[in-house]
Amino acid sequence: MEVLQGLKEQVKKIGDYRHAAMILSWDMETHMPKKGADAHISALTTLSGEAFKMSVSEEMRDQLEALRVPERYKELDAVDQAMVEHLYEEYLQCKNIPSALYERYVETSSRSQNTWLKAKHEADFDKMKPYFEEMIALQKEMAHYINPTKDPYDVLLDTYEKGITADKITDLFDALKEGTVPLIEAIGKKGIVDEQPFVGDFDKVRQQTFAHYLLDVMGYDLEAGRLDESEHPFTIGEAPYDVRITTHYDLRDIRSSAFSVIHEGGHAIYEQQIMPKLIGTGLATGTSMGIHESQSRFFENIIGRSKAFWTCHYPKVQEIFPQFKQMDLETFYKGNNIVKPSLIRTEADELTYNLHVIIRFELERDLFSGKLAVADLPEAWHAKMKHYLGVVPTSHTDGVLQDTHWPSGMFGYFPSYALGNIYGGQFLEALVGALGPIETLIHEGRLDQVRAWLGKHIHQYGKMKTPTQIVEELCGTGLDAQPIIRYYTKKYSQIYEL
Ligand code: ZN
Repeated sequence: MEVLQGLKEQVKKIGDYRHAAMILSWDMETHMPKKGADAHISALTTLSGEAFKMSVSEEMRDQLEALRVPERYKELDAVDQAMVEHLYEEYLQCKNIPSALYERYVETSSRSQNTWLKAKHEADFDKMKPYFEEMIALQKEMAHYINPTKDPYDVLLDTYEKGITADKITDLFDALKEGTVPLIEAIGKKGIVDEQPFVGDFDKVRQQTFAHYLLDVMGYDLEAGRLDESEHPFTIGEAPYDVRITTHYDLRDIRSSAFSVIHEGGHAIYEQQIMPKLIGTGLATGTSMGIHESQSRFFENIIGRSKAFWTCHYPKVQEIFPQFKQMDLETFYKGNNIVKPSLIRTEADELTYNLHVIIRFELERDLFSGKLAVADLPEAWHAKMKHYLGVVPTSHTDGVLQDTHWPSGMFGYFPSYALGNIYGGQFLEALVGALGPIETLIHEGRLDQVRAWLGKHIHQYGKMKTPTQIVEELCGTGLDAQPIIRYYTKKYSQIYEL
């Protein structure tokens, strides 16, 4: 079919531009010399702008509309149909956004991120204030072009998690609070686990060896990816054959990089298991950020912080880091599951983590509704930290400037992390129903079966299925916070003898 061929050529070209932009983004965070930033930003803006223009071009519209005519549409196979639907939806979403506005957004976002690196280092909120204001204004403007009748924050949420709204999130998060806050309080009364034995001098090369060991255990394919260092760990790439991850080595504590590697490895395995048939269709990536986070957090927490996992792999820790020779497995396991309110989201434990997310959700919801001004953001941050976690940062570095999301313009992203935990609990119950207790699977070294199950039911489809379809087909319900609460309650009651 000629028109299908034409569309595929367009999509390939867009994909090539995005691919090059992806490599530039990756390079900016990993290997680029400081002074190279301006040229990188310029090239990134051009490439992203061109890809954007093509995706909303008249040519694209004509091809898509021609293929959506019923007689032609029914001739397409399932992948091509999904491709047409996905592209058409993307076209409808973006067609009204002026390309000049989009380019301004990409450029401001790059400059904002670059400024943030300095501002965070200097704990200087004032330096970031104009960028926050501009990024919010730009996002509001874009949201209006996408859907002028919908609340702008809901429009943004929907771009990360199709079908979700602030109201639905509020209900889910209320359930999470109700299920976890009493646990956190009960654990708080049990006294604090001593973390001193975990602190020391840990050679970077040894930590790299350990990172590669963990990736190997998880089944991450190093011939279709690589591991580098960056300020903040992330996953980026072109699924399924080039999915890169990064980590950050804390030379005082091996847990920071180890769990980042397992987390990013979880994201990467999702992308590496997408079916190759989806290459070049625009569908070869995770279906939503919430489902993506469910996979990374499934590996990081449900597998990576389990007793069974360390029963198998603690000897390797002791071999690579002789400092642990004196520590028994039980202490190491508990040390990986310390529940303690803290300042930094990425370092938070499994339970208090959700509260960090809830704080950010409530703040961005208020920023977008106009209830909160950017100038008052640091104060509001402190108030929420005090209310939910009982701790307050003394520096903006550990407070409102700690995350890259807002400086990048990613408002509406944060809820994905907690939604990921919620999905993860649901997927866990489905997996246990199909394969048996997860502890047994991990203990018997059957992670390949876990990976295959996730691949079969979630990963392979990329964007062919929506998050709602995935969770409903697998669990028979929509999003439900109760399974993850059951998992938290069982696990932490046992560790802390509640
Ligand atoms: Zn993640």
